Amino acid sequence: MTVIAVDDTDSRERGMCTTYVATRLAEQVREAGGTVDRTLLVRLNPAVEHKTRGNAALAVHCDLPAERTLALADNALDHAETADPRTNPGAVVVDAAPDAVPDALADVARRAVRELLDLDTVRETLSVAGVETVERGMGRGLIGAAAAAGAHRAFEEWTYECISYRERDRWGSDREVDVDSVFAAADDAYPEVWDTVDREEGVAVCVPRTPCPILHGIRGDDPDAVRRVAERIESESVARRHTFRTNQGTDAHLRDGTIDTAQDGRAYRLDGTVAARPDTKEGGHVFFPLEGTGRLQCAAFEPTKRFRDRVRALREGDRITACGEVSDGTLKLEKFAVRDCVQTELVTPDCPDCGRSMKSAGANAGYRCRDCGTDADGKVEQPLDRDIEEGWYEVPPVARRHIAKPLVRGGFDAPTHPER
Ligand code: ATP
Repeated sequence: MTVIAVDDTDSRERGMCTTYVATRLAEQVREAGGTVDRTLLVRLNPAVEHKTRGNAALAVHCDLPAERTLALADNALDHAETADPRTNPGAVVVDAAPDAVPDALADVARRAVRELLDLDTVRETLSVAGVETVERGMGRGLIGAAAAAGAHRAFEEWTYECISYRERDRWGSDREVDVDSVFAAADDAYPEVWDTVDREEGVAVCVPRTPCPILHGIRGDDPDAVRRVAERIESESVARRHTFRTNQGTDAHLRDGTIDTAQDGRAYRLDGTVAARPDTKEGGHVFFPLEGTGRLQCAAFEPTKRFRDRVRALREGDRITACGEVSDGTLKLEKFAVRDCVQTELVTPDCPDCGRSMKSAGANAGYRCRDCGTDADGKVEQPLDRDIEEGWYEVPPVARRHIAKPLVRGGFDAPTHPER
């Protein structure tokens, strides 16, 4: 068995897409008489700054002899958009079954999803493991390629995506997809197939808006179900279709952490207490401080749409688990769990005689009604009308990161409030 893995072939402006390169590679393996067992679409650390979009790397598991696939891998890199200096493709060929690749590659895979890796270190790992490589430019894609090669051993949880590709002469033009057929197929297959549409925003999220070759990508828990949904969508003609096994929708990027030790460039699950009422700033971004072993700003940015209403419903004193990537000292919320909701708040007392709000009687002197002469020792507790319950809340499909796990997939430790 041979594992061929490839990354960093596309360009933000010029199009292309590493999934397409891998699909073509799988076709070439078959044309050369080989059998493809599976193709992995592996999402790596979403915090990587030089990613084009979703930080994807790909691996093809096949039965061609390794030495025959090296030329195919090299040829695949010729499809890369290397005219863009930010595209630096790399591919690796491992002469082993996917579950027998060297430990070091599984380790690169685990780390590439959660940390920022250094190209020289990964090159050294590949060289020690005796892995064949091909590259263009400065070869940064070797990081993702090494991770994709180790992914089968590194991860246990998998989902599927059926990607349909456009005819080449249509790349870059507006996509013709019948949105009603997308919504109908998505409704019938939900929740086994998820993140196809955002029902509240009325958006077919499975259809990209970039100049890439993808017409639509259908994600879900079952390979047959995602393919069936893809086949039901009415659209311009589909040039090719390929189903990938992927770590999308698994939260593989999240690690348990503490507020004081959370670092930029990593994504966490952090327990803490909301330290002040969430504040909506210019542009519609919502912020609040989370307190625990330290203090960390949490943010729900404007593109997270209605999720911001859930965040705005939080109150000082709520105990939550916040999940997301830390960047510039701010946790960008992807989901959160309300663990304990405060039910009362302390307010300035009203005068028992006239009902008007009392005034402070001075430092530590309580409150007084100047008109009636009544006084009170301090603030009083008042029940809060809460618009949020215990359990998990998430960004809507339109704002979901590829790797983030939709609540509808289950396996969470509290009740869930899925967005669809
Ligand atoms: P697409 O998925 O649309 O093909 P992309 O968003 O995957 O594009 P790339 O063009 O592949 O982006 O760029 C990501 C680059 O970052 C690659 O060169 C990859 O090797 C590298 N990379 C991936 N994970 C890490 C990591 N954890 N640390 C450092 N570099 C990484």
